[in-house]
Amino acid sequence: MKRFSLICLCLALVLLLMPGCSSSGLKRYSAEFVELFDTFTQIIGYANSKAEFTAHAEEIYNQLKAFHQLYDIYNNYNDINNLKTINDNAGIMPVKVDAKIIDLLLYAKEIYTLTNEKCNIAMGSVLSIWHDYRTDGINDPENAKLPPTSELIDASAHTDIDKIIIDTENSTVYLDDPFMRIDVGAVAKGYATEIVALAMTEKGVDHMLLSVGGNIRAIGGKPPEADQDESPPWKVGIRDPFDDNKGNIVSLKINNKSVVTSGDYERYYIVDGEKQHHIIDPNTLMPAPFFTSVTIVCPHSGLADSLSTAIFCMDYEEGRALIESLEDVEAMWLMHDQTMVYTDGFEDMILP
Ligand code: ADP
Ligand code: MG
Repeated sequence: MKRFSLICLCLALVLLLMPGCSSSGLKRYSAEFVELFDTFTQIIGYANSKAEFTAHAEEIYNQLKAFHQLYDIYNNYNDINNLKTINDNAGIMPVKVDAKIIDLLLYAKEIYTLTNEKCNIAMGSVLSIWHDYRTDGINDPENAKLPPTSELIDASAHTDIDKIIIDTENSTVYLDDPFMRIDVGAVAKGYATEIVALAMTEKGVDHMLLSVGGNIRAIGGKPPEADQDESPPWKVGIRDPFDDNKGNIVSLKINNKSVVTSGDYERYYIVDGEKQHHIIDPNTLMPAPFFTSVTIVCPHSGLADSLSTAIFCMDYEEGRALIESLEDVEAMWLMHDQTMVYTDGFEDMILP
């Protein structure tokens, strides 16, 4: 109930401020939510009325909330078996789960193969060690430490994705290793955003921009002007991590596509003056050292999310070869010396 009044308040606040008119007669609205996927969600959309937009925004909130609870590895919810339930039952028994969990896990297994095994949701045992050292290091910076290598190596013996046993007929998941843990941090936000975007498209929404913690998915473009046939693209800025004022390093023209960035500046702690971030190279079990950030643009937001993490864990040659092998996927690598390297299709999207 508290959450519902909060969203109504947010919507009311923003809706009062935002309406603008396009020549098609549709009005522009926006709404913002907190907490979903532990981040900030923003929706910009064009609709005939405030009531129509509010109904869509509430629907998006409810759907994302359901995904958030199912994909949560830290919290239990009443009457729900979620990823935490699966992790808690590792090596003990199969857990009956909602199809939304089965679908995500099947998708993540495909992604593992597609990404040369760089994006691995079965790496939770290793990632949780980093998570704990990072949390301690942020709370007590003077005593911040790196996880001991032996601890990481021991944990890495429990990251075999084939030991996530999925029974689609009975809708159960079993972790066939008592020390294995699932962590879907690299994929879940984008995957959920994609499913919600497709659901809204089904409902007839065709001009909307979703940002779930910076995981961006455009449904169509903006409404066409009176004398135009085509939808003008959205303008999507990519934050410049070298700019203290949080300006954009580039802005992109985006129509019906997703944009996702993984970077070393999003979540990190400092050990002996060195930044230790949250994207872990499965080969070294250490934070991937190659880039400041990687941005992916492609139609499917789950693919954009998982590729941004995976490409961040590959050297430039390997990543470029993978991106070039995929249809309708563009990328930008932001190097530590601030240079940007991008695919031709990415360059075509950059606004002057
Ligand atoms: P963010 O969650 O900040 O948007 P990412 O999409 O790149 O960033 O995901 C990072 C999260 O994914 C980490 O916090 C961790 O939970 C998980 N993760 C880190 N490294 C890997 C990896 N190599 N494979 C799979 N998951 C990873
Ligand atoms: Mg990702």
